[in-house]
Amino acid sequence: MVEPFPFCLPNRSLLIEGKVNGTLAFGRWLHAIDEEAAPILDRLCGEWALNLLGAAPWRNCTVAWWELVWRLSGMARAVKDVALRRAKLWLLPEGGFYRDFFLRGSQGPPSGWPCTSLLLLRSWHIPDFFDGFWGMSYNAYKRVVTQRLLDVCAHRDMQAKAGHYIPLSHLALCSDGPCALVEVLRVNTSWGNLVALRSWTRFRAGLLLLSCKGGRRSRASVQCCIFRGAFAGAPYQHVIVYCPVWDEYRTKAVEAFRNLPVRAVERLQRLLTVLPGEEGFSKMVEWIGVIDTSRRQFWRDHGVTPIF
Ligand SMILES: [Zn+2]
Repeated sequence: MVEPFPFCLPNRSLLIEGKVNGTLAFGRWLHAIDEEAAPILDRLCGEWALNLLGAAPWRNCTVAWWELVWRLSGMARAVKDVALRRAKLWLLPEGGFYRDFFLRGSQGPPSGWPCTSLLLLRSWHIPDFFDGFWGMSYNAYKRVVTQRLLDVCAHRDMQAKAGHYIPLSHLALCSDGPCALVEVLRVNTSWGNLVALRSWTRFRAGLLLLSCKGGRRSRASVQCCIFRGAFAGAPYQHVIVYCPVWDEYRTKAVEAFRNLPVRAVERLQRLLTVLPGEEGFSKMVEWIGVIDTSRRQFWRDHGVTPIF
């Protein structure tokens, strides 16, 4: 588990995307054809996402990488590398050594990279550059491949996301649309809010333990709010919509929203899907940052480590 750090999550996420993923990309077009590649690459991607959010290894990594706006799984990134590598080979001048070697390999043996890489693309329903993309630029083909992989991943991830319902169904909370972690870098946001976005993201992913039984972690069906000690049926909903401890913060945050739904579930969904640039975003992020700090203090005071 990673303890809170002073770096902001949006920048950290971009750093991993740019540097770590960029480093892995070297030679990935070759490793991708190995039968063991998919579970290893997906597991690595999931581990980074969970680690970045400070989540236990057994948590739902699909939810974590969607929260971080990593829309392509580890293997999907490798498939993209394969498709683009093949496109570059197709685009080499005719008669060149590498292109001829690639073309000869495409005739066999079936276990060689030219054949197995094509089979890999077919299994992901990704067109090869040779499949009617002549005349299209490399960048245009890259956009087609990326979009198709995004579609495949979104479809595959749907089931894993649907099974996650704390604090809300993740399908309702996180869609293909704009996401706070990306949008926040396009608007003028305070450093405090950028840092608090880690708490915000962890809250949306259901990683904060907000209830207890006698000051202890418990699996009991009836638990108490850690802030007030009274019964809390659905802890996340209770803290944001009802808990009197947070009346002052709630009033400040809610007054920035117009036409908030009356039903608690819908109200929670609206509050947790507010985007940077919208009125109320800063207040909500600040509030959840304070909730997270108080939660950490509660578990520290009760001698619970690691702190949930
Ligand atoms: Zn409470």
